[in-house]
Amino acid sequence: MCGVNETPVRAEPKAIVLHPRNSEPAALPAGEPRNQLEYIEQSRQAHSYSKAVQKLFDMALSYMPDAEKGNHEGRRKAAWSTGLMEAPLLYACDTVPMAVYDLGRLTAAEDAADLANDLFDMPKETCSMVGTLLGEWYMRRNNSVKKVVALSTICEPLNMGYEMIREFGFDIHRVDQVIRPVHGGEERLNEMVKYLVSELEDVAVFLTGKPVDETRMRFEIKRLNRCMAKFRRILRLRVDNPLYIKSLPVLFLLMGSAHYFGKPEEYEAMLDQFIDELTQADFVPSPLGKIVPLTWVGARGLEFGVFKAVDDLGGALLSWFTPNPYDRIWNEDIPPLEAMARFILDYFVTGSPVNQIKYIEKMIEETGSKGMFFYTYIGCPYGGMHVELFRNHFHQKGVPSSFLEGSWQVGAPSGQLLTRVRAFVEMLS
Ligand code: SF4
Repeated sequence: MCGVNETPVRAEPKAIVLHPRNSEPAALPAGEPRNQLEYIEQSRQAHSYSKAVQKLFDMALSYMPDAEKGNHEGRRKAAWSTGLMEAPLLYACDTVPMAVYDLGRLTAAEDAADLANDLFDMPKETCSMVGTLLGEWYMRRNNSVKKVVALSTICEPLNMGYEMIREFGFDIHRVDQVIRPVHGGEERLNEMVKYLVSELEDVAVFLTGKPVDETRMRFEIKRLNRCMAKFRRILRLRVDNPLYIKSLPVLFLLMGSAHYFGKPEEYEAMLDQFIDELTQADFVPSPLGKIVPLTWVGARGLEFGVFKAVDDLGGALLSWFTPNPYDRIWNEDIPPLEAMARFILDYFVTGSPVNQIKYIEKMIEETGSKGMFFYTYIGCPYGGMHVELFRNHFHQKGVPSSFLEGSWQVGAPSGQLLTRVRAFVEMLS
């Protein structure tokens, strides 16, 4: 039966105390979108000529409800996970990954962060992402999806967040995810791969009670590599026609690249549809006469108004170095769990940022980017350090960049953030 939770949980907060945002939202002209769903609707209308974009937003918005319903009705299990890199393993375990990090982007629950503050009396400097996710999970405490695959890769605040939601009845399985070693050469790396493989073996047992079906996982790895090749093709086609698909749909395509919005076959068919449209579409000129090719580096952000501001000024985000490493390929010639372990150890979040610079340089070159945005969340020391290293490197190489510090909040971005975005794109125009 859905929603029966035998773990004692906190009483419903009687009154939600509204805490101040990290920054004031921009004063918006009438008719401008005010929350995530309105930005999506605005983008749908701006892309009324594209069936692929309509399909993409349909898939995104039905992702969480359909996964929850499928799990509740016993048709297909679902489990919470990062939704960044574990799709082949989870799908091989007949489990839909429900991406924790996409919760805020897809649900637009404006109260989530305030709810967490009220429940836990969160310190003011707590990262807004962790606070919001705690609130989102609290709201789902009676939901049928209880299993959580908690990869420890991201950061300590989030790891503690996983511990805090145990009392809401969630069944947390921790994956000790090691960081790629800087010293020790191949021998040390191989030891870590071995350790991570054993951790990933345990994920399958947690989800299904038995070891992963390797044949099935090989199939899923091939699917992921195939989808990412199609995604890269879409980005290459965008270089020649940047405004046919604007920034927000590309962000959504990127998000879905790691979990397919719970529907792998439909996601792949949609990628084909994007390719068909882009190969046949007429060139879409910029209303401002010029197009400024740009690269986005860092977190993917929850403030859709930032992407809209870039588009409105004739900017085009043509490459994205975010936690979705679409530019990397899983090794199909080694055992699948080892392929996953090696992929994770070479990955943006866990790999040293210094190791990642070469990937960003390649993206800039391939798309002819004239500048870069570095984006991180207020209160995130982890992302801030990465961005600082990247920024120094590209500053020395003479690539113009702008550092954006946003908030994990539903609604319009702060006026300060929008001013920075506009000033930067105008400077490069
Ligand atoms: S924004 Fe930074 S501090 Fe917050 S959960 Fe993400 S990595 Fe951790």
